[in-house]
Amino acid sequence: MSVRGLTKAFGDNEVLRGIDLDVGRGEVVCVIGPSGSGKSTLLRCVNLLEEPSGGTVRVGDAELTDPEVDIDRVRRRIGMVFQQFNLFPHVDVTGNLTLPQRRVLGRGKAESLAVARRNLERVGLSDKANAFPAQLSGGQQQRVAIARALVMDPEVMLFDEPTSALDPELVGDVLAVMRRLASEGMTMMVVTHEMGFAREVADRVVFMDGGVIVEEGPAAQVVGAPRHERTRTFLTRLL
Ligand code: ADP
Ligand code: MG
Repeated sequence: MSVRGLTKAFGDNEVLRGIDLDVGRGEVVCVIGPSGSGKSTLLRCVNLLEEPSGGTVRVGDAELTDPEVDIDRVRRRIGMVFQQFNLFPHVDVTGNLTLPQRRVLGRGKAESLAVARRNLERVGLSDKANAFPAQLSGGQQQRVAIARALVMDPEVMLFDEPTSALDPELVGDVLAVMRRLASEGMTMMVVTHEMGFAREVADRVVFMDGGVIVEEGPAAQVVGAPRHERTRTFLTRLL
């Protein structure tokens, strides 16, 4: 995945001021930065939930920002997990995992069920196939939301603070699932405040502030020995 010269303004509020970022196949990039720095907007521009004001986004061989491109087709290549899990409340876990496959990909009943089961196992929730979202903990709901993204066979997974809405004791299970995905070779871009996860799992950490990338590099460098004052200040406040 490759982002070049990405800009985004809401009215006269320039939220992204020229972002260049590559995420290689199988790479895990963690994005950190203060609230309001443009992290969510960056992710939302990458999967075209927001229309960029300028610049290009490329996933595989598809140029997402090409006006000729079929946005729905391209968006399927990108899985997104939000802070709020947004499961369908009125259908069970299996329904949450099969309906999008049937509606969006046109898969048949047997295939969508098989794919759902495989991915439910991947997030450690095989025993919850018939539970309704309200019967699950926040951490379990978020793992279902991850499985729901995975059933679409995405090339890239985007995570926007996936553990921020969870009680502290539930965070670990979700991070464990993400760690497993990373070890399976999934390409991932993760906005997070979990510095432990960033240190252990990220191939690269990107620090954003004021709509620009201030600093990027291996976690040991950006988190362990930041070069920029703004990065240092941000990390100190997290402690
Ligand atoms: P972060 O995720 O780093 O906290 P955001 O990308 O959510 O930052 O927001 C960056 C800035 O963009 C904020 O000033 C926010 O008010 C503004 N913003 C985000 N989304 C919208 C929107 N849909 N309309 C107007 N302003 C927005
Ligand atoms: Mg955000």
